[in-house]
Amino acid sequence: MKDAHEGIISHHQFDFVQKMIKNRKRNFTKFKKHLFTNVVYCNDCGSGMWYRQNRVGYICGSYARHGNIACTNHAISEKELAQVILNDIDWMYNKISDKKFLSDVKALEKKRVHLNQKELNLIDDEINSIKVKKRRYIEINGFTCEVQNHKTQVK
Ligand SMILES: [Zn+2]
Repeated sequence: MKDAHEGIISHHQFDFVQKMIKNRKRNFTKFKKHLFTNVVYCNDCGSGMWYRQNRVGYICGSYARHGNIACTNHAISEKELAQVILNDIDWMYNKISDKKFLSDVKALEKKRVHLNQKELNLIDDEINSIKVKKRRYIEINGFTCEVQNHKTQVK
């Protein structure tokens, strides 16, 4: 393959071009799907964050697509992000183990169940009221028909 270019360009030029192609490939980092891609969102524009190998972390997806006009060139390293998530999990684990927190959650749940039951009772009352109205309407309608039949028979 290398010999095929000998007539057109020199060995030196061929090697130089090959080196340029190789360097270009090395500098261009592609979008790569990673653990937190589109799971973490940019605080400035709300776009999903994308992993970039050259940053060893995540950058704003809007910035990755459209550059400075869309967002800023901020990033979070994967290591830092993993640490933040681990800290959150740790915090949640400690909260769950905390007896006061658990009793607060149970009290809130009990209150919510009570409120839901109250709302259900109101809906049941409304349904019963509508059923009574419907029955009365049917009775009145039946009576009206009877009266009209009676009137036509009298004529
Ligand atoms: Zn952004």
